[in-house]
Amino acid sequence: MRLSRSFVPTLKETPAEAQIASHRLMLRAGLVRQTSAGIYAWLPAGWRVLQKIAQIVREEQDAAGAQEILMPTIQPAELWRQSGRYDAYGPEMLRIVDRHDREMLYGPTNEEMITEIFRQSVRSYRELPQNLYHIQWKFRDEVRPRFGVMRGREFLMKDAYSFAIDYPSAVLEYRKMMLAYMRTFQRMGLKAIPMQAEAGPIGGNLSHEFIIVAPTGESQVYYDAAFERIDPASGDFSFDSPADLNRFFSLLTTPYAATDEKHDPALWRNVAEKREGRGIEVGHIFYFGTKYSEPMGLVVAGPDGRPVHPFMGSYGIGVSRLVGAIIEASHDEAGIIWPESVAPWKAVLLNLKMGDARCDALCEEVYAGLGAEALYDDREERAGVKFADADLLGHPWQIIVGPRGAAAGTVELKRRATGERAELSVADALARIG
Ligand code: ATP
Ligand code: MG
Repeated sequence: MRLSRSFVPTLKETPAEAQIASHRLMLRAGLVRQTSAGIYAWLPAGWRVLQKIAQIVREEQDAAGAQEILMPTIQPAELWRQSGRYDAYGPEMLRIVDRHDREMLYGPTNEEMITEIFRQSVRSYRELPQNLYHIQWKFRDEVRPRFGVMRGREFLMKDAYSFAIDYPSAVLEYRKMMLAYMRTFQRMGLKAIPMQAEAGPIGGNLSHEFIIVAPTGESQVYYDAAFERIDPASGDFSFDSPADLNRFFSLLTTPYAATDEKHDPALWRNVAEKREGRGIEVGHIFYFGTKYSEPMGLVVAGPDGRPVHPFMGSYGIGVSRLVGAIIEASHDEAGIIWPESVAPWKAVLLNLKMGDARCDALCEEVYAGLGAEALYDDREERAGVKFADADLLGHPWQIIVGPRGAAAGTVELKRRATGERAELSVADALARIG
C-alpha cells in the first residue's frame, strides 16, 4: 500500500485519555478510533492486525477439529429465560426491544444459542463429540470500560462450544482446546500461562484462564519459570492422540501458577524458579457439564438407547483484547514492535527524497519486489517524520532509501525489534526479509 493514498492517521501528541501504552500507541499509530465509551472503529492498519490475529486463532481451532460457524449478535431473550440467565446476567447485558415489543439482547456470549441450534438437529451419541466456534462481536456493558480495546464494551471474541456424550470425552475436548490455545498464543509471540480459575457467570468447575505477563496487567500473578520452556508446537503433541493431550495437560497444570486470589504462599515456597508479574487475561476455557443442556432440554440417545444431556464446555479468546495485549508485551518508547505474524505490514519502505529520480526508481523496484505485505511511505514528508512513524507503526522491517544509497544501488535495512541496520543490495535486502 502507498501511504500517500492510505488512511493511517498517526498522531504526534499523546492522547490524554489513554492511561496505558497499548491504548496510547493504538491511537497514535492510527489503528483505532473511539466512537463511544468502550466502542471502537478499526482503521486500516488496526483492522489488518485484527484479521491476522483472528486468522491464527481460526487455523489453530481448525487444527484442533473445531468447525467454524457464525451466529448472530442479536439474540432472543426467550433463550436466556430457558437457561435461567436472563435475570442473573445483570446490567452488563444490553437489552433491546424490537418494534413488535419482543425482548432481544446483544449477545455477551453464546451458550444458549448454540445449545438451541444443537437441540434442533442432534439426536444420537454417534454425532458426538463436536466443537463449534465463531469469531463474532460481543457486547458487555462493562461498568468501567478502559485501557482501549483491552476492556471494551463491544469486542471481538472467538468462542467455541463442545458437546460430548460423557465426562471422559468432554475432558478430551477441553484438553484439545488447551493445546490449541497454547499454540495460538505462541504464534503471536506470546508466552501464555494457564491458571486454574474460578468459574465466572458462565459457571462450572474445570476452568483455566490464559494469562499474558505484562507490566500493565489487571491482576497479580505468580508462576513457575518451567512454563517458559514448554513448546506446544514442538511436534510432540498431536490433537488426535489422547495420550499426547493428557501428557500436554499435565505438563501445563503441574508447575505452580496462580492469580493473587488463589495464591498459596506455602506452595509457592517450593517453586525453584519463581516468576511474578502483572497478568492480562487473553483466554478463558470452562467445562460446565449439563448446565445448559439440562434446563434447555438438549437430549441425545446414548449408546444404550437411554437419553443423555450432553456434557459441554466453552472456550473464549479475546481477539480484539489481544491486539492491546501484544502491544503491552512488545513496545518501546518509540512505538509498537509487532511480531511478524500479526504486523499490519511486514515491511515499510521509506523514500527519504521523493521526487529524486534515483530514489523514486529504486523505491518502485523494491516495492514491486516486496509484494502485498509492504507499506510504501511515499509521502512528501521530512525524513524525521517518516522514521518516527515507521517506529511508531512497528513494522518488523524498515527499508530506507536515500540519495546516497540510491546512487550506489543500495538500501538500508533496519530490524525494528533489535535496531540492527545493514547496507545491502536490493536483492540481499529482499532475501533477508524473506
Ligand atoms: P474479564 O475477567 O477480563 O472480564 P471474562 O472472564 O469476563 O473476562 P470471558 O467471558 O471468559 O471473559 O470471555 C473470554 C475472553 O474475552 C476473555 O478471556 C477476554 O480475553 C475477552 N474479554 C472479556 N471481556 C472483554 C472486554 N470487556 N473487552 C475485551 N475483551 C474481553
Ligand atoms: Mg468480564
